[in-house]
Amino acid sequence: CASGSLQGAAQYARDRVQGRPVGMSKEDAKNSTIIDHADVRRMLMTIKSYVDAMRYMMYDNQLMLDVEYFAEDEEMKAYGEERCGILTPITKAWISDLGVELSSMAIQVYGGMGYVEETGVAQYLRDSRIAPIYEGTNGIQALDLMFRKLPLDNGQAMQRLLGDVNKIIEEMKKDDEVIVSMAEKLEKEVSNLSEVTLWLGSRMLEGELVDASAAASPYLKMFGQVLGGYYMGKAAMLANKKFKETNDEFYSDKLTLSKFYIEQLLPLTSGYASAIKAGKDDLYAMKADNF
Ligand SMILES: Cc1cc2nc3c(=O)[nH]c(=O)nc-3n(C[C@H](O)[C@H](O)[C@H](O)COP(=O)(O)OP(=O)(O)OC[C@H]3O[C@@H](n4cnc5c(N)ncnc54)[C@H](O)[C@@H]3O)c2cc1C
Repeated sequence: CASGSLQGAAQYARDRVQGRPVGMSKEDAKNSTIIDHADVRRMLMTIKSYVDAMRYMMYDNQLMLDVEYFAEDEEMKAYGEERCGILTPITKAWISDLGVELSSMAIQVYGGMGYVEETGVAQYLRDSRIAPIYEGTNGIQALDLMFRKLPLDNGQAMQRLLGDVNKIIEEMKKDDEVIVSMAEKLEKEVSNLSEVTLWLGSRMLEGELVDASAAASPYLKMFGQVLGGYYMGKAAMLANKKFKETNDEFYSDKLTLSKFYIEQLLPLTSGYASAIKAGKDDLYAMKADNF
């Protein structure tokens, strides 16, 4: 839905004439459309960049499923099973929530024409809205991540995943300046995620299970956002290499999308940390009748 609605929104933004973009002369503005407005660009970049991160995550989850079922040696099968177990609730919930958010953002690109039916973009929002509900509501997926996946192998499975993420960060640090700068930003968010993961593990060991259940959804969102950064970091290294070999703007665009994600979308993760650590108190402070 996010990808389909983006295609419509980008086409509409290339056609729709409205307003003079900040900094553009009146003469140039005669040939300008809304895709020249920075805010419209921001919405399109946000959707396109998330679409890449979501696709990479889904491909990896699918690959791990194949490894689990079809790898020839038992060690690889076990690796696939473990990784698939952690990725599945994140893939399902982080991506389906974003599908709703991004389809709604695509409507915003159309303005009033998005709200009425002629353009068809509103259908993407309606279609995407079921995905967070069925196949295990996203709230239940978050509880699965918290209570079944986080404790896997006494927390070691999660540490192995974060270890793989850190290996990519080390590789990124040996690359060009633009990638090194992305590595530093990713490292900061991965370290925040590791810290809250350890904190949650210790809360559960202390028996504070309601606090952990209160943290489940923001923890899943934080995890998804950080893993998105990991995939975008990997993609950035490959795109940079391929661009040098081919000079094809497909690859420079991929690099731009990774850079946008890591610099402008990934830092949103920090906000989840305080919701995670806030515990249950505020959630249960009001009587049920007072909502
Ligand atoms: C269009 C459509 C197609 C469907 N197709 C199928 C199908 O093909 N096969 C099938 O089997 N089902 C299908 N379903 C059913 C779907 O799987 C359920 O709607 C879904 O599992 C949610 O259950 P529920 O509607 O009973 O909501 P509820 O379970 O009542 O959930 C309501 C809210 O409470 C939360 N909640 C519930 N229990 C807990 C808990 N223990 N902890 C924290 N939060 C909780 C949920 O996350 C949710 O936010 C379909 C539903 C729709 C709308």
